[in-house]
Amino acid sequence: MRGRMMEGPLLISNLIEHAGRVHGDQQIVTRTVEGPIVHSTWGEVLRRSKQLAQAMTEAGIGRGDRVATLGWNTQRHLEAYFGVSGMGAVCHTLNPRLHATQLIYIMNHAEDRVLLVDITFVPLVEAVADKLRTVERYVVMTDAAHMPDTSLPSAVSYEEFIGGHSGNYSWPTLDESAASALCYTSGTTGNPKGALYSHRSTVLHAMGVAMPDVFNLSRATSVLPIVPQFHACAWGLPYATAATGSKLVMPGPRLDHEGLTELLQDEAVHFCAGVPSVFLGLVQHWRETGNAPSSLEMVLLGGAAPPQSLIAALEGEFDIEFRHGWGMTETSPLGSVNTLLPSHRSWPVDERSAFQTKQGRPPFGIELRIVDQDGAVLPHDGHAFGELQVRGPWVVDGYFRSDAEELSPDGWFPTGDVATIDADAYVQITDRIKDLIKSGGEWISSIDVENTAMGHADIAMAAVIGVPDEKWGERPILIAVPTPDTEPTSERILEYLSHSLAKWQLPDAVIFVDALPMGATGKVQKTKLREEYAGG
Ligand code: AMP
Repeated sequence: MRGRMMEGPLLISNLIEHAGRVHGDQQIVTRTVEGPIVHSTWGEVLRRSKQLAQAMTEAGIGRGDRVATLGWNTQRHLEAYFGVSGMGAVCHTLNPRLHATQLIYIMNHAEDRVLLVDITFVPLVEAVADKLRTVERYVVMTDAAHMPDTSLPSAVSYEEFIGGHSGNYSWPTLDESAASALCYTSGTTGNPKGALYSHRSTVLHAMGVAMPDVFNLSRATSVLPIVPQFHACAWGLPYATAATGSKLVMPGPRLDHEGLTELLQDEAVHFCAGVPSVFLGLVQHWRETGNAPSSLEMVLLGGAAPPQSLIAALEGEFDIEFRHGWGMTETSPLGSVNTLLPSHRSWPVDERSAFQTKQGRPPFGIELRIVDQDGAVLPHDGHAFGELQVRGPWVVDGYFRSDAEELSPDGWFPTGDVATIDADAYVQITDRIKDLIKSGGEWISSIDVENTAMGHADIAMAAVIGVPDEKWGERPILIAVPTPDTEPTSERILEYLSHSLAKWQLPDAVIFVDALPMGATGKVQKTKLREEYAGG
């Protein structure tokens, strides 16, 4: 028997339409790329995202076409989220920190037709534009007065692009399973892979993360996402805050401690989210200046494991509730969050913060389990450890333009993380199966660095391992065997690697050895190398 309830697709346009109509006067604040702090509202964002949808339609962009963005967290970037997806195109966020070769690969693979780019990144795009096979139009996210001199063909400022349009536009009624946004992850082996979100997955994720035990968002909350819009859609905060009508404060390009602290203070921010490395510096800055933002009530750190000392400082020293999130680009990204149970709150800070290093519990919508090497499900006893697998309506079932089978035979997504799960359903990540290093929230592929290094005539064999680092979480070091009769120096090798790797992907040290420890199957025994070199 069918229920007698209305049918209606879950669409991203519903989110912005709701925000604009019901929370129309709620503030959207941006520290702009041009410099000044600009105040706007959800009502304005609704009107302008409709103008953008009209401009895209006029430019010939249709359903399913990819429109890329290369930008900081700003109002215009926010409008792209709603305008592009709302009209049925796919908003493809690009990470400006990637090496140019990766950017070219990703944009050609996605077949982006339009690129919305911040002034900051125009030179980066100019340098690769002749290799971008499908881009027809470059829109610089600024106004005519700030438009840079550029060699990009047919470049136009965003304000001119949308300017001639009325904003009198009705969103199309799309299939809720249609693709809405695309985000490539380099957290996999081989080439970057695209997580292709849908309208339905995005709306469900937005409602899931807004809940009290997750991000705890409401109309009364002022939210500052430090996490970039190009990292899994700023963890869904733009969509979730539209649903809750929260105030949204966008830091733009100024992510320095002073700039962030000023914005947190002046805009009375309650909730802030980002990777641990940013907060290590912020907390130190607050200590030195005695100037911690007084309104800040909660900080959610994720993307990498935060050190216990940072958790203890936030909770004990600054009286800010700490929440620890785990997730992946493939999980939209939220997979679990460590929110303490009421009973934990009476624990002393030391004990509490040790517990808060756990990655937490799944919100409604996500299921988690651990399995052994044969795929057998392991008990949730806090001791057994195995690969973490995840399932739910905001988890990928494969990658964009790939036929490869990614799921387990019974339909779970294997994360490549190793974890325990305790009796209260708190997950703790203990290790990683994937041969990747995460530095400051960004991936470095050990295999890529090794292969590149072995491209140098003086390197016979190379192994890259991650070593713990207080600030960045992990940093790569390269252990190499020189080719007989050569005497490579670490300077020469690093200079060579810099031709194909981004600066932050370069190893912190190159160590030359006579031989690498090899296992029975002919693989380098990285565990041995880690034991030997993990001390730094
Ligand atoms: P990404 O797709 O770049 O967001 O990376 C996802 C991966 O980052 C996960 O599979 C983990 O390896 C790692 N990660 C994310 N959050 C955490 C966390 N809280 N603690 C430890 N590792 C994490």
